[in-house]
Amino acid sequence: MATEEGRKAELEVGFSVSDEEMKKWMSRAFEMAREALQGGEVPVGCLLVHRQEVVGKGRNEVNETKNATRHAEMVALDQLLDWCRRGNLDVRGVCEQTVLYVTVEPCVMCAAALRLMNVPLVVYGCSNERFGGCGSVLDVSSAELPDTGTTFRCVPGHRAEEAVEMLKTFYKQENPNAPKPKTRKD
Ligand SMILES: [Zn+2]
Repeated sequence: MATEEGRKAELEVGFSVSDEEMKKWMSRAFEMAREALQGGEVPVGCLLVHRQEVVGKGRNEVNETKNATRHAEMVALDQLLDWCRRGNLDVRGVCEQTVLYVTVEPCVMCAAALRLMNVPLVVYGCSNERFGGCGSVLDVSSAELPDTGTTFRCVPGHRAEEAVEMLKTFYKQENPNAPKPKTRKD
């Protein structure tokens, strides 16, 4: 399924991404997710790859920074912006040729940020049942929102079971910063 999706993505985003590339970058994203888990963070890792070069990478740092917006994707996007500034490059031009590799489906907030940055393709692991912005809760990735950047394509399901296992391990642990939910449906 992922292969077929990948081919479709290739046709529509205007540049090609091979299965080997996807495997290679996703394996780095998984290493970062594992680091996040060891550091007591929600285990999400990601890379922004522009023409075979990593221009941004991040793992979730919400607990470390005590800032609820510091999701892996936001950390990586900030690095991409720095990279563009240092090279005096046009941000939109760079983003349009950039792929995000992330272990978990981007949440609604991050999906909106990706639209505003015009990143055309996201390869991800498992779905994000709680906050997913690429179909699980809302479909920000493909919604018709003419004033909110551009839609992006997704290639889901890469090592999804492993990504889910990491999330389960995290949510079983005690999170000192999380408020205790009194009623939880799941
Ligand atoms: Zn997010």
